[in-house]
Amino acid sequence: MSCPICKKASDPAYRPFCSRRCADVDLARWLRADYAIPVAPDDPEAELPPHPDDEER
Ligand SMILES: [Zn+2]
Repeated sequence: MSCPICKKASDPAYRPFCSRRCADVDLARWLRADYAIPVAPDDPEAELPPHPDDEER
């Protein structure tokens, strides 16, 4: 199984994610209700954008 955020191998401690960071990214997306926006798989170190509201409105 691979991390749905960055596609790296998942860690059993954070599955299905590879790290706490990716789990937090996923949670943040759910909370912002913009989970449908895919992450760029070639940029796994990218942080969350500071103003995601620009995408929705
Ligand atoms: Zn990951």
